Amino acid sequence: EFALVWYRNDLRTYDHLPLVSACQSGLPVLALFIATPGSWQQHHMAPIKQDLIRRRVRALEQELSELNIPLLAVEAEDYQSCLAVLAALIQAGAQALYAETEYELREQQRDAKATALFQNSGKAVYFSDRRALMPPGSVLNKSSEMYQVFTPFKKAWLQQLAGRGVQVHKRPAPQLVAPVLTLDMPAMQPGDQSSLAYEVGEQQVLEQMRRYCQVQVQDYQQKRDFPALDATSGLSAYLAIGVISVHQAVARLQLEHGQTLNQGDSGPAVWLSELIWRDFYIHILVAFPQLIKHKAFQAETDQIVWPNDPQLFQAWCDGKTGYPIVDAAMRQLNQTGWMHNRLRMIVASFLVKDLHIDWRWGERYFMSKLIDGDFAANNGGWQWAASTGTDAAPYFRIFNPVTQSERFDPKGDFIRRMVPELADLPAAQIHWPHPLPMWSDYVAPVVDHSQARLITLQLFKAVKHS
Ligand code: FAD
Repeated sequence: EFALVWYRNDLRTYDHLPLVSACQSGLPVLALFIATPGSWQQHHMAPIKQDLIRRRVRALEQELSELNIPLLAVEAEDYQSCLAVLAALIQAGAQALYAETEYELREQQRDAKATALFQNSGKAVYFSDRRALMPPGSVLNKSSEMYQVFTPFKKAWLQQLAGRGVQVHKRPAPQLVAPVLTLDMPAMQPGDQSSLAYEVGEQQVLEQMRRYCQVQVQDYQQKRDFPALDATSGLSAYLAIGVISVHQAVARLQLEHGQTLNQGDSGPAVWLSELIWRDFYIHILVAFPQLIKHKAFQAETDQIVWPNDPQLFQAWCDGKTGYPIVDAAMRQLNQTGWMHNRLRMIVASFLVKDLHIDWRWGERYFMSKLIDGDFAANNGGWQWAASTGTDAAPYFRIFNPVTQSERFDPKGDFIRRMVPELADLPAAQIHWPHPLPMWSDYVAPVVDHSQARLITLQLFKAVKHS
């Protein structure tokens, strides 16, 4: 007989409530991870993210073994086949299931079936709602509804934080008895090693987070918008698969910068704001389930008939639009699996408002490449940029990619790094090299921004009634 901890996007041993609770049950603990490449594919999960997960699970296995907790890492096709694994574990003596809640559609369906499976066998199921710092549904306005704009949500969120603080759970002490199980199941396969630039040891990742919260975060406010500077935390992939929790990040920030956290424009306060954005989009996803079904938050914008030119889309994907900042950004994504936040906003706006392509195409492409791909943050970011979401940038405010480039990559350092065709250009020309005939090996612009802008205004006006 044993307690079962089912790991999914919460691949850590510290601050892990399901693990803590299972260890308190008095039963020996078995941990489980099921790789589901079929479902990952269905969700367009990037190969680099899949690899990071597989590598992280092997490190987790080691870390759990120090607690005398075996991790069973198996390979199954998809979420449906997880149920057979769980059924076999019930047969083998699982008495209760412990896991962290997930909010996406198929994950919810999978977990409902898993719950039924356990409960129908008379076993208990415990889900802990800890993906966001405040559980979805717990930060509401005076009418007990979810906020639809960020700023009042943030205010209420901060009030709750001040009221109840952050609880971070200790790593359990080593357990006495480890259940020995021999089950006939295929072991989890190794990945393609594409994520090797990322550390996967929990201690190393925690150390990276601590260092960031101690030092660099102080300059966050000044430097965060400049992609050439490498001034953001780079923790998104770890938050996405749960190597660290948002609770740990906020607790650390409070420890280091208790006083300045209340000052709206300090680096730590602005970084905290980004973590609140992460919570906000999770809350929005749970409150408005149409989002999980790929609907626009502002329903009328789903009436827009996007031209969706496949050649323009391909040029965007390949980083060959003739707009240097867009191309540099897309090449960063394609080469590293990560893109700076300012650039995500620029390329998303460009795809929708310059190339007139449905934001869902971009959302899907991002998912298929990002190491930190996360449905709530990605969908929220795309709908924000496309002016179809909450808080949306009004549709008539359209980023000018050249002006953005001049503001946020003023010397052109980032462009030079990613677009070798332009590496010799001085700052004055790099943002818009087209009048210079000698740079003909760089692609010509695929659209004219000022014309494209007018088309966007028409597309939106046709469906907006106000
Ligand atoms: P930091 O600046 O150090 O921020 C700290 C953490 O806060 C991040 O790791 C992330 O967990 C969270 N965060 C920061 N900004 C946001 C935001 N706008 N929304 C939600 N959470 C945020 N982030 C993802 O984690 N996964 C995605 O799939 C994703 N897709 C995006 C798509 C678009 C179109 C846009 C505009 C943004 C997207 N973001 C996404 C948000 C943001 O760009 C990344 O979280 C950030 O660039 C990650 O780098 P970092 O860890 O250095 O961030």
